[in-house]
Amino acid sequence: MSLRIVVCVKYVPDATGDRHFADDLTVDRDDVDGLLSELDEYAVEQALQIAEEADGAEITVLTVGPEDAKDALRKALSMGADKAVHVEDDDLHGTDVMGTSLVLAKAIEKTGYDVVLCGMASTDGVMGVLPAILAERLGVPQVTLLSEVSVEEGTVKGRRDGDTASEWLEAALPAVVSVTDQSGEARYPSFKGIMAAKKKPVESLDLSDLGIEAEEVGLEGAWSAVDSAAERPARTAGTIVKDEGEGGKQLAEYLAGQKFI
Ligand SMILES: Cc1cc2nc3c(=O)[nH]c(=O)nc-3n(C[C@H](O)[C@H](O)[C@H](O)COP(=O)(O)OP(=O)(O)OC[C@H]3O[C@@H](n4cnc5c(N)ncnc54)[C@H](O)[C@@H]3O)c2cc1C
Repeated sequence: MSLRIVVCVKYVPDATGDRHFADDLTVDRDDVDGLLSELDEYAVEQALQIAEEADGAEITVLTVGPEDAKDALRKALSMGADKAVHVEDDDLHGTDVMGTSLVLAKAIEKTGYDVVLCGMASTDGVMGVLPAILAERLGVPQVTLLSEVSVEEGTVKGRRDGDTASEWLEAALPAVVSVTDQSGEARYPSFKGIMAAKKKPVESLDLSDLGIEAEEVGLEGAWSAVDSAAERPARTAGTIVKDEGEGGKQLAEYLAGQKFI
């Protein structure tokens, strides 16, 4: 049977744009352009490489996000994924990582899977915990933060690099895997890939399709809350030390004053 790979990809606000919080302290996603999280491109790339090595594979890309999140799915499809699932529902507004992981788990179970691939973190929330929570919800092993990954004979294997040592890990499928930005450059979509992506199927699901009640997600179902948010103060001009023979001393005094030395 062909290997079923699901890649979780997130549509995130463009970090080069002006980002704001809405009045309810959720991220204002309407007023800013978005894109496929750069860190999730690595997960799509690894899925494509695993599929190339497998004796038959199908890659489904999955996102939980607003209408525009389809753009992230199209990009992943143009890189080479086969089909997409988009979960969208007004009641998702304000959903935290617990709610997002619940929705993803239900959608993954509905789609069917052998391997779930995630990025190491999203570029907006940056919690980096979703893959672990997802594995717990699915009741399968997690092999996270891999810089090298392969799938052979019902087993996923990979290398996790730490500051002082590397670990070689493996788990029986089905399993959840997350990959780092060291796992290998993501390919650019080719013109042929972009044209082919327009015809690939994108399934739309809402909460009722997944048997999830509105109270389980959204701000109401969130386990975490944002109490306040403030704009970062503008940068100050800094301190300029003019060297008139005493520059080195002044510099040392400044650094000592800041407790750097
Ligand atoms: C419309 C909407 C409103 C939201 N409002 C809030 C809010 O107010 N407060 C809040 O805390 N969260 C909110 N979220 C959820 C939030 O954006 C994150 O998806 C969630 O909290 C996970 O945190 P993270 O991105 O830091 O996960 P990380 O653990 O950093 O992500 C790791 C990996 O998990 C996968 N992943 C993460 N999110 C998604 C996703 N949405 N779809 C598919 N794959 C994903 C990716 O592979 C990613 O690389 C909202 C989401 C949506 C769609």
